[in-house]
Amino acid sequence: MPNAHRLWQDNNGYKSFEMPGAKPHYNPDRPGQVEHIALDLQLDLQNQICAGVCTIRLNPVRDGIQTLTLDAVSQRIERVQANGIEQRFDYDGEQLQLQLQPSTVAGQPIPDQALPPLEQPQRGLYFIGPDAHYPNKPVQVWTQGEDEDSRFWFPCFDYPGQLSSSEIRVRVPAQYQVVSNGELIETLVDGDHKIYHWRQTQVHPTYLMALAVGEFDVIQDQWQDIPVTYYVQKGRQAQGQITMGKTPRMIEFLSDRYGYRYAFPKYAQVCAADFIFGGMENTSITILTDRCLLDERAALDNRNSESLVVHELAHQWFGDLLVINHWSHAWVKEGMATYSEVLWTEQEYGADEAAYYRLEEARSYFLRTKAVIAARWSPTSTGRRSSFTTATSTKRAPACTTWFAPNLGMHYSGGRFKPLCRTMPTAP
Ligand SMILES: [Zn+2]
Repeated sequence: MPNAHRLWQDNNGYKSFEMPGAKPHYNPDRPGQVEHIALDLQLDLQNQICAGVCTIRLNPVRDGIQTLTLDAVSQRIERVQANGIEQRFDYDGEQLQLQLQPSTVAGQPIPDQALPPLEQPQRGLYFIGPDAHYPNKPVQVWTQGEDEDSRFWFPCFDYPGQLSSSEIRVRVPAQYQVVSNGELIETLVDGDHKIYHWRQTQVHPTYLMALAVGEFDVIQDQWQDIPVTYYVQKGRQAQGQITMGKTPRMIEFLSDRYGYRYAFPKYAQVCAADFIFGGMENTSITILTDRCLLDERAALDNRNSESLVVHELAHQWFGDLLVINHWSHAWVKEGMATYSEVLWTEQEYGADEAAYYRLEEARSYFLRTKAVIAARWSPTSTGRRSSFTTATSTKRAPACTTWFAPNLGMHYSGGRFKPLCRTMPTAP
């Protein structure tokens, strides 16, 4: 594609972000709009097995579609149905090819069902528990979808331009709690097990679907009519309060500063053992590493946890409410979340502290990440793990967002992110 090649080379005389030989990558063609995803899961925590049914309601974009291709990595898919009819399918361990009988009729949604039992998924969903070396480690299960790991624990159209409502129903031994996106609509006792049923009515991409399971101490807080909840390992309640206790004030601050009220029915933060990142901004349920928990002494001179809490919270607006269309846009959401750390520092500790914070971020971006900046956030990013480099995306914030924020503009349109629009959102 010589024209496309020329397009990426055209940077008004500036050096390109792309590595030599990089090619553009695009989201796959959309067979339709996913309207709803429902997961019905049973978790066997002792044997570390997740089994269940994934139901996807898809509204086809046109008549006559005969094949659907879903992302599903290393799953054991036993059966697929559409409209209650068993379907033929091919599965190569990466993608599920579904031969639709009958083919689609535009505007008539089809519910698909696939049954993927997973024994210790390779990624996406993680079982944590004690072992010979760490006998006191808690038993927990948690997920991490960004950027393309949700496909490891349920079949889906796994790219950020595809948004839907979702629900997750999970059966666990009765002593464990389950937290997920949206609202808890039902808890059922089933013998010595419990079933938690969470539902989110606002649309969001698959990488933000999440669950966390464990035996938690729960701290219940509040912002206006929004429940704000902190989940920590048993016995760490005081540390949870110290570390996350400013959250309601942060919600107030960001709602005011962004001019858009916090959009979801609750905000939960779960501190998870062995979490693979600092934090993940799943819609209305942020998962944080338990290493962010501070006691009174540590809190005296450590603001990293406070910055982490406000960063993930800021993503509820930039990333979750305003959703990127492609992974090459990820620096925008990461930039705004990191810029929000600067805004909060200014609000809480004054202009000088904020200026110093911004300076440190800029130094970090320009000096430490120089080698990996190239090739990451560009139209050539594939999104597949290789592109998600926190250092490059978050550290671009002080360098870029400070300049862009007043002018960049974004607006909310049915949950979709539209870059380079005219104005910042106004309160509804
Ligand atoms: Zn972030």
